[in-house]
Amino acid sequence: MSSGRAAVIPVHFWGTRGSLPAPLGRDAVRGKIREALFAARNRNLTTEKAIDRFIDNDLPFAVGGTFGGNTSCVEIATGGDEYLLCDLGSGLREFGNHLIARDGPGQPHTFNVFLSHMHWDHIMGFPCFTPAYIPGNRIRIYGCHKNLSEGLLRQQSEPCFPVSFASLGSTIEFVQLEPDVEYQVAGFSVTAWKQFHSGDSYGYRFARDGKTIVYSTDCEHKAPVLDATYPFVGFFRNADLLIFDAMYSLADTVSVREDWGHSSNVVAVELAQLAKVRRLVLFHHEPAYDDARIARVFADTMRYEEISRAGHKVEVIAAYDGLRLAV
Ligand SMILES: [Zn+2]
Ligand SMILES: [Zn+2]
Repeated sequence: MSSGRAAVIPVHFWGTRGSLPAPLGRDAVRGKIREALFAARNRNLTTEKAIDRFIDNDLPFAVGGTFGGNTSCVEIATGGDEYLLCDLGSGLREFGNHLIARDGPGQPHTFNVFLSHMHWDHIMGFPCFTPAYIPGNRIRIYGCHKNLSEGLLRQQSEPCFPVSFASLGSTIEFVQLEPDVEYQVAGFSVTAWKQFHSGDSYGYRFARDGKTIVYSTDCEHKAPVLDATYPFVGFFRNADLLIFDAMYSLADTVSVREDWGHSSNVVAVELAQLAKVRRLVLFHHEPAYDDARIARVFADTMRYEEISRAGHKVEVIAAYDGLRLAV
């Protein structure tokens, strides 16, 4: 822990959807416009400023915005020159485009990527990550799977993608990690943790200046084993931010989606409470849920946290593409 006030760590969510991208269709957009116009009737919205205020203050998020449709990609700012990312879902493309718009293509960067696993939704952004094509950029991909490079090489092979992985202009390295071992990367201490998921997935605990961020997506916690002795409680312990796979509502997890490798909003709250987490981020949203449904799950989750709270308050946040948090 450094002396004095701990530096704030910005966290930017570039992709928050699970399993596959879920763009808004015409009917969804039309539904939002209809609801917004209905809510705006009899209001004197004659200036852009008044309209913005109305969107921000009077419309529910599910009407005035969207949780977004890109798959897993989260950026944790390092405070230095290097970048730190969790997963390479389709949100990565937005991140790459943002960087190039800001710095131009000539500015070299170093990216440290922590891969939870190689299911397609967690790597599909890489072939469209423009910085990967630019010589001078360095990309280090960290993970615990023994065949770490295989998924990325395969998704950029004929006949699935026209540009081979080997022809990318940037320098790409794969770094094999062991779970439960602490590593130092880009100013953070990082520890990986094996999770319950088809083919295994790994969560990561990042710590710097006394702040802790845990990225734990694609893991199925089975309800009966959740108490203070459950090993994940130690992994999440006292995290300032826990990014958690809360793909389903509890009703879905215990009925149709059991053994699908993901967890519910209720399990998220229970584990966050046991581990005394400060802020819980619901992440990896089910692609079949529309904005209104995710908003309902979010509201239910906040209510559940309130009624099940035993002293320690967990702040619940629903992730959306573009969300920025200061940890
Ligand atoms: Zn996933
Ligand atoms: Zn998965």
